[in-house]
Amino acid sequence: MHELSVAHSLVEMALDEMERVPESRIIALHLRIGALSGLVTDALLFAWDVVSEGTKLQGAALKIEDVPVVIFCPVCQQEQTLPGHQIFRCPRCNAKSADIRRGRELELVALEVS
Ligand SMILES: [Zn+2]
Repeated sequence: MHELSVAHSLVEMALDEMERVPESRIIALHLRIGALSGLVTDALLFAWDVVSEGTKLQGAALKIEDVPVVIFCPVCQQEQTLPGHQIFRCPRCNAKSADIRRGRELELVALEVS
């Protein structure tokens, strides 16, 4: 399960961060996850609960922002947000595009500290 290894690295990153500021307590991690990242949000939330249990991060929340797929349409000459992530066609003119501008993200955006 891919989500489990992602949750592991998130825990490691956050614990490293806590060591730098010892009296801090992380109450939430803010993530940005693209529709093409291959991650299932619910599975990641579950994995996070499992992996963070028993660490200093137990009880910290994962706040996930889902990023849709954005392609650059060569016909419209602009970026277009796709309604899904199966078909890489411009939703306006139906042209095919493999020029993916957003949707692959897996970013730790911020740590919320109390
Ligand atoms: Zn187009």
